[in-house]
Amino acid sequence: MMGYLVYFNTFRSKDIINSPYNVRLDSMADRVVRGKILDKDGNVLAKTEVATDGTETRVYPYGDLYAHVVGFDSHGKSGLESAGNFNLLTSNAFFLEQIIREFKEEKNVGDDITTTLDTNVQKAAYNALGNYKGAVVVMEVTTGKILAMVSKPDFDPNLVMENWDTLSTSEESVLLNRATQGAYAPGSVFKLVTTLAYIRQNTNYGNYHYECTGEIHYEGTTIHCARNRVHGEEDLVTSFANSCNASYSDIGLNLNFIKYKNTAEDLLFNSKLPSVLPYTQSKFQLQKDAPASEIMMTAIGQGKTQVSPYHMALIAAAIGNGGILMQPYLVEKIESYTQIPVEKNMPEKYATLMTSAEASQLKAYMQAVVESGTATALRNDSYSVAGKTGTAEYSSDKEKSHSWFMGFTNVDNPDIAISVVVESADNSGMSAVSVAKKVLDAYY
Ligand SMILES: [Zn+2]
Repeated sequence: MMGYLVYFNTFRSKDIINSPYNVRLDSMADRVVRGKILDKDGNVLAKTEVATDGTETRVYPYGDLYAHVVGFDSHGKSGLESAGNFNLLTSNAFFLEQIIREFKEEKNVGDDITTTLDTNVQKAAYNALGNYKGAVVVMEVTTGKILAMVSKPDFDPNLVMENWDTLSTSEESVLLNRATQGAYAPGSVFKLVTTLAYIRQNTNYGNYHYECTGEIHYEGTTIHCARNRVHGEEDLVTSFANSCNASYSDIGLNLNFIKYKNTAEDLLFNSKLPSVLPYTQSKFQLQKDAPASEIMMTAIGQGKTQVSPYHMALIAAAIGNGGILMQPYLVEKIESYTQIPVEKNMPEKYATLMTSAEASQLKAYMQAVVESGTATALRNDSYSVAGKTGTAEYSSDKEKSHSWFMGFTNVDNPDIAISVVVESADNSGMSAVSVAKKVLDAYY
């Protein structure tokens, strides 16, 4: 019996207690006051207040700001409240104190989770999105620390109980964490994948040239460049920087499908992602017998491809980090409420997504986007950016589109990666680039 208890507490209890299907979780909450969730500087993001009559209230001092990533502790839990449930309901206070409390039939105090989240960056992202739907993810390139994760529309986690019926049936999917669970057409940010596939399949890719007439016709399909712009004579750098649809449709038609798919899968399409939060797997579905129209659409990021903002941040981080994706993480450390260390996460490698030569080639193309292409608004004296913009059309009416940006900063010594989606930015003047600029300005 003793042996089993040790085994259970040491090895099995976390999985079992963390399972939302386990009623034992409730009995743990009967014995332990839930611990706090803190940002990287120790600011309280979630805490439990106990009234004199013993009534407990979970309080989220920042309200809507951390709604999705920190989540809520009712109606099945979400975000870190769910992922960190075991730790929050486990007390590593001094054992004598624990025993005394048990004897007095008092609750013990659960451990605190210090996250990697930076309230300054989170606020900037939250404010920059304004009333638009969308998501922002910011992470450190060399460590994998997630600094910010915002999803809009948002909600107040303090009022989840009261507003549950409205929230859970909302047509706008308010509860969905669009950063990790949003499945968006990538639009032109997918040209990164197409470019990598082209580089891998053509050793003489440096000689690529294309004469853009503003549109391309092939087997009954016509694809236009944005605003019917005629880009003229281009090489691969200018095709990428101009985000030339005609050039990329042409590239797509000349790719080997199987290798194209393999390249996408090397970048974690159709595969699991490292994430403690629930996420939607990205899809790359081009089949061998796909019609030319679908190939052309896929190459420019329309087609059936779907990706989350979080996944795009991981790809940007890997390119910035010389092809190596660090294990992304949200939990910096876990401590007892009296600051006895329990667990600490250290940066570790997750996977190599591409060679360092490929990463530096893509980096050069992404620099050209900011230097002279579609993201010149990010050019400034305080920090450098390499990135890719995208416009993802989501209806046959070409005026309706989501705006994308993904990239990383301090190109010579990469610092942070950022991924932004603004839904229905259309032609409103609002763009993912302008959101990224506000976030990066706040960070630096
Ligand atoms: Zn063009």
